[in-house]
Amino acid sequence: MFSFSSIRNYQQFLTDHPNGCSQVVQQYLDAIQENEHLNAFVEVFSEDAIETAKKLDEKRAAGKPLGKLHGVVVAIKDVISYKGHSVSASSKILSNFTAIYHATVIEKLLAEDAIIIGRNNCDEFAMGSSNENSVYGTVKNALDPSRVPGGSSGGSAVAVQAGLCMISLGSDTGGSVRQPADFCGIVGLKPSYGRISRYGLIAYASSFDQIGIFGNTVEDIALVLEIIAGEDAFDSTVSQKTVPHYSEELAFTQKPWRIAYFKEALDHPGLDPAIKQEISSFIKKLTAWGHIVEPVDFELLEYIVPAYYVLTTAEASSNLSRFDGVKFGYRSMSKDADLTGLYNASRSEGFGKEVQRRIMLGTFVLSSGYFDAYYTKAQQVRRILQDRTQEIFSNYQAIILPTVPSPAFKIGEKTNDPVEMFLADIYTVFANLVGIPGISIPLFKHPNGLPFGLQVLTTHFDEVSLLRLSKQLMALSKPAENA
Ligand code: GLN
Repeated sequence: MFSFSSIRNYQQFLTDHPNGCSQVVQQYLDAIQENEHLNAFVEVFSEDAIETAKKLDEKRAAGKPLGKLHGVVVAIKDVISYKGHSVSASSKILSNFTAIYHATVIEKLLAEDAIIIGRNNCDEFAMGSSNENSVYGTVKNALDPSRVPGGSSGGSAVAVQAGLCMISLGSDTGGSVRQPADFCGIVGLKPSYGRISRYGLIAYASSFDQIGIFGNTVEDIALVLEIIAGEDAFDSTVSQKTVPHYSEELAFTQKPWRIAYFKEALDHPGLDPAIKQEISSFIKKLTAWGHIVEPVDFELLEYIVPAYYVLTTAEASSNLSRFDGVKFGYRSMSKDADLTGLYNASRSEGFGKEVQRRIMLGTFVLSSGYFDAYYTKAQQVRRILQDRTQEIFSNYQAIILPTVPSPAFKIGEKTNDPVEMFLADIYTVFANLVGIPGISIPLFKHPNGLPFGLQVLTTHFDEVSLLRLSKQLMALSKPAENA
């Protein structure tokens, strides 16, 4: 029986197991079946995965050069296009849609010999924080199935958490990778805006969306990042900056890190007291270990959730206008409608409640009478946030924050109060508004037994420092396991 600990160990295992990929894929397929009740997958690509595994075993046997992700079993969020496979954004409106091309990330994964095992459940069109807004039903947290796994990439997080794949890809528009990673006790990275191509990713809010990576270790995530990042002729918003070999840049630095934290974030009344206490004492430990950790003023905290929800719903209302029952996906069967009636009926029947709420909100903030009051104001907040953030990074190499104000909550607990659900995004939406990279690393345990993470942020395109510091923090806090 193979037991996964890291990509490096797995590849070592493959060197003396001629049928290793096939054996391991079968093991994962069995595990997925045994854990069906978690609802993490909406489709398992069993035949494909078995066939690819066999080919990879043959490739090894033939002594051919192997890809950097040779045999690595990856799951993808149901918003990433994998040619010839269904992709639905966990929405009824795309229930019969098949991807006609590969997302760039898929091309790159396959080129390095990865095995894509299935697509993961998520909140409809990536809108949500609990994975309760999916046409396929709620995803369950494997540590306590009465609780949510977080969202919107809840299925991808649970797939890693429950050992149903080695790595998974999600998308993070306002926290959808970091927040479920926090709730599930795993590592979740959102790179800088423009680090990874969004080609083939179903858009939610295009100036915020970024593909992110879930894994068990920083090392695995660094390796996957160096493969899927980088310029792409199909996405002009991707940076042309060279992609560092992240996995080779993780060595510890002896120098002290200069780290900031936001006073207002730790003093926020919505923050669970046990999380506050744990992070405060971690800050003391960091100082004791020789790092410089200082509070900075961040009076802008209360503006970030409103600015985020104005801008993302505005972008979503435009992005989702293409789903009209004519060109894509679900079409209403109502017979006597004219063209406008067909649009109305298809969209009303095809989109779920949360998506409809956001399209209406976004249409409202963009309407001529309110545009300046909401959209323009929110853009101004975004600019001010960006300037303030740059100022902070001129003095510090990293910012640390809680990832989420509370640990995983009960299924159904917040469904009747969308505003409460929105407010819980307070610590994660900041990185997307500003475009910087962020990660959640599973350092802590709440008195109720649930894990929670520390969020680390660095400046634009400084994923090297982000990953290096995260690895160091994980090792320092659990020396025996991670050293
Ligand atoms: N919870 C946030 C939202 O609902 C973030 C979603 C995301 O990152 N895709 O908008």
